[in-house]
Amino acid sequence: MFVDSHCHLSFPELSSRLPEVLAAMQTAQVHQALCICTTLEEFETVHAIAQSDDRLWATIGVHPDNEGVREPELDDLLAGAQHPRVVGIGETGLDYYRQGERTVADMAWQRERFRTHIHAARQTDLPLVIHTRSASADTLAILKEEGEARGVFHCFTETREVARAALDMGFYISFSGILTFRNAEDLREVARLVPMDRCLIETDSPYLAPVPYRGKTNSPAYVPHVARQLAELKGLSVEAVADVTTRNFEQLFSKTTPLV
Ligand SMILES: [Zn+2]
Ligand SMILES: [Zn+2]
Repeated sequence: MFVDSHCHLSFPELSSRLPEVLAAMQTAQVHQALCICTTLEEFETVHAIAQSDDRLWATIGVHPDNEGVREPELDDLLAGAQHPRVVGIGETGLDYYRQGERTVADMAWQRERFRTHIHAARQTDLPLVIHTRSASADTLAILKEEGEARGVFHCFTETREVARAALDMGFYISFSGILTFRNAEDLREVARLVPMDRCLIETDSPYLAPVPYRGKTNSPAYVPHVARQLAELKGLSVEAVADVTTRNFEQLFSKTTPLV
């Protein structure tokens, strides 16, 4: 049984054929998926999808790339987090890849937005789903400054030093289909170093379909291909990777496990 710790079922490529996507999950033994929110405007749809099926969960947050959308206030995030099946805050973080002509100083709004999410995570005791691209130093520095937060660095593509720093702060590292790409040897090297009890797997679907589906529309049913690659790197069985990553997911997103 696999868990897809990061997917975007609310995006039209997937939401337009949700029954088919869910049936494929079943066939592929993917028994849970976390539906990630990227704007406040989108939250209602993300949440409705998570409510529609026992296997699905949701987050509340505004992606650092999204401009011209409603800026999240702390109260917006706290209110979203109250909803049933909302188990995390994000995706949030920093992304300087698309800064274009702007300087890092011009991206202060992203850092403010990130801090707002960290405050929400602390107040709700929910984990952060962190997106970082071309901005790892600032991402780590802000997390350090803010202190006391837990979560996952999703779709990890950074160096071993960044992985080490994230692990030292108690964060999990999530690997996507990129791990299966032919030119991703550096990332596979990083994955070899991340202890299994801190690894998660994800699709980030509809993007980044793993080999052999590279370039096609991705979906949660493909997460076993990420598990298979990770198993190969770790010298483990796919079943063992499925078990550990499921346990890690349930530990981090503990609202997914009912208290008994
Ligand atoms: Zn992301
Ligand atoms: Zn995402």
